[in-house]
Amino acid sequence: MELIKYPSPNYGLRRDDTEIDFIILHYTAMSTENSLDRLCDPAHEVSCHYLIDQAGLCYQLVNENKRAWHAGKSYWRGYRDLNSRSLGIELVNLGNEIYPKAQMKRLISLLKHLTKSYEISPKNVLGHSDIAPSRKSDPGECFNWKELSNSGLALFPEASSPMNCDKTFFLAHAERAGFNPEASFEEILKTFRNRSRPNFRGPFDGYDCASMQKFADAFDVDE
Ligand SMILES: [Zn+2]
Repeated sequence: MELIKYPSPNYGLRRDDTEIDFIILHYTAMSTENSLDRLCDPAHEVSCHYLIDQAGLCYQLVNENKRAWHAGKSYWRGYRDLNSRSLGIELVNLGNEIYPKAQMKRLISLLKHLTKSYEISPKNVLGHSDIAPSRKSDPGECFNWKELSNSGLALFPEASSPMNCDKTFFLAHAERAGFNPEASFEEILKTFRNRSRPNFRGPFDGYDCASMQKFADAFDVDE
């Protein structure tokens, strides 16, 4: 599959003791041209490994063995330097647009290749908002986690029935899954619903709890 080399100077070395075991998905919130400019501008100090535009063209900006600067201040399951452990994929999207079929198709083929090459578990394919819920919302409410899950590339925790619960229960399971315990209930509910119930706008309920419990349970399974 065609890969367009578009080297960015914005990268460093991965820490010696880390392996690549996460993939972080982002949206750019701007056009392809502006995204490429920004991700290659030394003044902005941001980058990613791959960028996929809305037509499905894939650009490689940073070599996989280098540490690209896409995650920023982040947290997952005790890890705080997610940049050293991950590959970052930017998707051209303003945040409120449907992700076109060609773009999702290219993303799925790239994820299949990367998860196989690095033996990355589908549960470690995360959104930027999962690892930074207090300051990020990408890949956003329009991103189709279910489609990735159908291809075995990410988790889509769908509850078949509600359970009795409260915010404390929800947060305990969120922490068990990997979310930052310092993030607020509202922040975690928002990012989690982007994944689990993207079109639901109602108040917090038993389906949110059951989905979060299911999500956390997936992380307890040894592989
Ligand atoms: Zn991002």
